[in-house]
Amino acid sequence: MDNNSALRDKIQSLKNKRKAVILAHNYQPGEIQDIADFVGDSLELSQQAAKTEADVIVFCGVHFMAETAFILSPQKTVLLPDTHAGCFMADMVTAEKLRVKKKELPGVPVVCYVNSSAEVKAESDICCTSSNAVKVVESLPQQEILFVPDQYLGQWVASQTGKKLHLWPGFCPTHARILPRHILELKQKYPQAKVVVHPECRPEVDALADAVISTGGMIRYAQQPQVRQMIVGTEMGIIHRLQKENPGKEFIPVCPQAVCVNMKLITLEKILWCMEDMRPSVSVPEEIRLRAQNAVERMLEVV
Ligand code: SF4
Repeated sequence: MDNNSALRDKIQSLKNKRKAVILAHNYQPGEIQDIADFVGDSLELSQQAAKTEADVIVFCGVHFMAETAFILSPQKTVLLPDTHAGCFMADMVTAEKLRVKKKELPGVPVVCYVNSSAEVKAESDICCTSSNAVKVVESLPQQEILFVPDQYLGQWVASQTGKKLHLWPGFCPTHARILPRHILELKQKYPQAKVVVHPECRPEVDALADAVISTGGMIRYAQQPQVRQMIVGTEMGIIHRLQKENPGKEFIPVCPQAVCVNMKLITLEKILWCMEDMRPSVSVPEEIRLRAQNAVERMLEVV
């Protein structure tokens, strides 16, 4: 029995004992995706967190995702196997700075990308993910919107909705590594391949793609029979799931350096330890949770 299989067995038996569910983001390492009960994008994971009947949610992702799970299911214990698993983009906006900006734009609603802290969500009117950002912005009657923190997702949404978006200067350093020249080189090498990119990519990259979609959207796109080869512009972790669910098709990462170091902090050992110790857990002060819940639930009503 290899070391990983012994670890997997222990995790499985503790999972039953704790009545736990393991949720993993599409960017998690392959061995984590393989032991998860559910693998998905931010929207799918928050929907799972809202409806699960488990007592414990083991969140294999980054801090804001575990926080969102707690915001929706405060009666459950939400474990994050490594508390250092943060998000560089989420750290680019604080509630304090957002309050200052809101004062400069009175009456302008705030749409916050789910990649943000609970405090920032609490200051926002409605939340969005990359898979529903266009729908969320369209659902608002106002033509002018303050969008935080991802300027690139915001630019994409503005181009799709025609609304005026005030953009926060945040971005994802992992997706910023993906450049137009990477795509142009691969298009030459694989002329038949479809190109899909995540809306956290730069607009110049979006312009070269057949589809600009969330990771959940990429999973569905790959299932189409006419897609045989796909050039994939997002974090490397998704290649594992695409390949596993579509044997015989070819998935080419746009940029092998597009790796989120925070996502890779989660390991099988840390999952086991957190289930043994029932920590580290993630929670949010009730006053902030209630206001953040409004923004997240309002989003879930739109999709
Ligand atoms: S890939 Fe980027 S946006 Fe996603 S968790 Fe990592 S740093 Fe944050």
